[in-house]
Amino acid sequence: MVWTEALPWHAEAWDQLRRREEQGRLPHALLITGLPGLGKRSLARRLALTLLCERRGAEFRPCLQCRSCHLLVQGAHPDLFVVEPEERGKQIGIDQVRALGERLSLRSQYGRRLGLISPAEAMTVAAANALLKTLEEPPLGALLVLTSARPMLLPATIRSRCQQLALVAPAPPQAREWLRQLGRPEAEQTLGLAQGAPLQALQLLEAGALERWRALLATLEQLRSGRIGVVAAAMQWREAGRELIPLLQAVCLDLARLVAGAEARYDESGQLRKLAAGLDAYELHVYLEQLLEQRRHLEHALNESLVLESAFGGWLALVQKSRTAEARA
Ligand SMILES: [Zn+2]
Repeated sequence: MVWTEALPWHAEAWDQLRRREEQGRLPHALLITGLPGLGKRSLARRLALTLLCERRGAEFRPCLQCRSCHLLVQGAHPDLFVVEPEERGKQIGIDQVRALGERLSLRSQYGRRLGLISPAEAMTVAAANALLKTLEEPPLGALLVLTSARPMLLPATIRSRCQQLALVAPAPPQAREWLRQLGRPEAEQTLGLAQGAPLQALQLLEAGALERWRALLATLEQLRSGRIGVVAAAMQWREAGRELIPLLQAVCLDLARLVAGAEARYDESGQLRKLAAGLDAYELHVYLEQLLEQRRHLEHALNESLVLESAFGGWLALVQKSRTAEARA
């Protein structure tokens, strides 16, 4: 997959950008938000490609033929400055942002200059302050594009100076169709875990999430039917450690949907439906709250196996309480 192609779930956002550009209302700073895996950076790069293209025409699409398009695809366009953490997971420092400000204020060869900061929440406080100066006095013809999956981590002063563009996850049929066309239909199974974000689903698939998801459903079923106990289940999952809790939350959210009478979004073999059968809605809700609470304290948890045992113990209690509730009814 290449970022120069339009992603189908960007159509509405793209249309907004096209209209703003046509009406001369494209702001000097844009903040693209949305879940991880919706292609925020792809959209930003495609916007840069389109705005800098020399033969764009009325269609608001890059030609991919002109000199500007070639330079941009090679990552060598003199009018696009990309600011990212130097290493994955690292912060964006003040020097990087200052250099961006300086380069944006230079006169452009072609008219427009674009700066891309991604992910924006990776900026240090000092870097964000430096950016604020550029946002307050934007250089003529400059467009800053910030992307962030967690915009609330950005200073309010930055957010308020950017026009926000929120990307939303595609409807499941559109996501499934896109994954099929990509030749990765099996990623459909990780879409639920990825909260519907297709690129995240692909990444999770590559990271083995699907196997873990299936294995967890199997463990929960074994616990429910009494084939294994809580301690054995925790042993099975000791490698996963604290990673188990978010996975368990995702499963339980899907179960809650089923219990409430909605369709599970992605239930390949009816395994989820089987687990949901007979679960008490109220008790499931209580369990979800417990998991949320556990997740909050995960970082301070000293004993991982206790965390796992308590999580699986909660599941077993949920199953038993659901049975009691059913018997009473
Ligand atoms: Zn072009």
